[in-house]
Amino acid sequence: MAHKRITIERDKKVALVAHDNKKRDLVEWAKFNRDLLAHHTVYATGTTGALLERELGFPIHKLESGPLGGDQQIGAKIVEGKIDFLIFFWDPLEPLSHDPDVKALLRMAVVWNIPIACNRATADFMVSSPLMDEEYDRLLPEYDAYRNRAAL
Ligand code: PGA
Repeated sequence: MAHKRITIERDKKVALVAHDNKKRDLVEWAKFNRDLLAHHTVYATGTTGALLERELGFPIHKLESGPLGGDQQIGAKIVEGKIDFLIFFWDPLEPLSHDPDVKALLRMAVVWNIPIACNRATADFMVSSPLMDEEYDRLLPEYDAYRNRAAL
């Protein structure tokens, strides 16, 4: 299958999202990695972003709260190439009102082949990668065949 390359720049556009039971985890992780995160552009869903801004002391691009559409806003930015890295601590033990949005966000990350961490261990491995300080060409399947398929 043909592929296309999209560059993730050295300065990355990182989205951070945590469900309520995971916010403490994400804040601890982000504080530990504060200096590294400060070199990138950070987006977050509303409540997560407000907490992080208070704890990290640098500006975060805050979107709507997750259940009010924030997850979908992040998904849309992934599609538009405006977010290229996702740390998403979702809660595996609680059903949530916006479960369909959570699934949609995870799906967009896979469709657009962006790095995604859903727990602290993966997030640790991701941010300690030498690729954090480099450009990275992510490969995308050539979706034109899908776009141009005969729909009828
Ligand atoms: P919140 O949203 O940061 O506004 O709590 C997170 C989510 O539930 O997706």
